[in-house]
Amino acid sequence: MRIEYDIKLGFKDVMIRPKRSTLKSRSEVSLDREFKFLHSPISWEGIPIMAANMDTVGTFEMAKVLSSKKLFTAIHKHYALDDWNLFLAHLPEHAENYIAVSTGISKHDSNKLAKIFEIHPQLQFICIDVANGYSEHFVHFVKRTREQYPEKVIIAGNVVTGEMVEELLLAGADIVKVGIGPGSVCTTRVKTGVGYPQLSAIIECADAAHGLGGQIISDGGCASPGDIAKAFGAGADFVMLGGMLAGHDESGGEIIEKNGKPFRKFYGMSSSTAMEKHVGGVAEYRASEGKTVEVPYKGSVENTLQDILGGLRSTCTYVGASRLKELTKRTTFIRVNEQENQVYSS
Ligand code: 5GP
Repeated sequence: MRIEYDIKLGFKDVMIRPKRSTLKSRSEVSLDREFKFLHSPISWEGIPIMAANMDTVGTFEMAKVLSSKKLFTAIHKHYALDDWNLFLAHLPEHAENYIAVSTGISKHDSNKLAKIFEIHPQLQFICIDVANGYSEHFVHFVKRTREQYPEKVIIAGNVVTGEMVEELLLAGADIVKVGIGPGSVCTTRVKTGVGYPQLSAIIECADAAHGLGGQIISDGGCASPGDIAKAFGAGADFVMLGGMLAGHDESGGEIIEKNGKPFRKFYGMSSSTAMEKHVGGVAEYRASEGKTVEVPYKGSVENTLQDILGGLRSTCTYVGASRLKELTKRTTFIRVNEQENQVYSS
């Protein structure tokens, strides 16, 4: 047994220090980014915020709205091939730049992925997603997927440490998804004791990825636009959101009424709700590592997006970054023991 004594930080442990700035207004800030990838020859341009591949977040309906604003959706893996056909038949031009097809690592998953790409070769992004990205089997799957799809952009995760980011990039991933345990409906840390505070995970993994010419996605743990700004400030190239995009018209999830007020169901993809829905129950050898919650209905996701993008532009003006790309360089985090004033919070 060994103990690492340097303290690891989450979003709640820091704030971003304001800096002298020449920017006059938030409207002068560009949130657009352009990326070239380590393996894929494709280049990408857009606002690097992603909806998570959960069936109560990363839906086709969500993708329609997000792609129209050049934001990204990792579509959840439970749609049937027919659903994909129908969706893609009505998709506006260029929207395929803003969606990823998610997959697990079973034979069934890779067969389905192959079928989707055979019929729709214009799709460009693959998101290989497992709860624990530390297994050799997963690394082999990433390698095989790269061999099979040399031109596609491959996202792979989740991990939280630099050496595993490097291993996945060398195995063929272009972008590594970072986050174990920070999610709003995740119970991994409680069930297993395993995890890594997200801000430190981003800082360490971004450093490893950028050294090799890869990118990272910060996945999980953002509860406010300020957290998203901190994730970008720490070095994330993309930020993935679950809970912040749940509960909308576009999110999916059963609609429930409680005391006359509307709610939408939101659940982790390893929750017993998800496992019962998609695989007929929780297998005997495993525990559910996700929660099921009811989130107040939030209307169209457009309002939430405006709030998020407005917050992010404001962060950039506070530190003098005219482009999102400059935010990391202009970020100084301060360690804090307080966050927002709670006097009027219910
Ligand atoms: P959020 O933005 O809600 O804080 O986090 C979203 C992320 O939580 C997802 O992208 C995914 O990585 C993670 N997640 C989703 N469902 C589960 C689950 O059932 N268990 C765990 N451990 N993580 C989950």
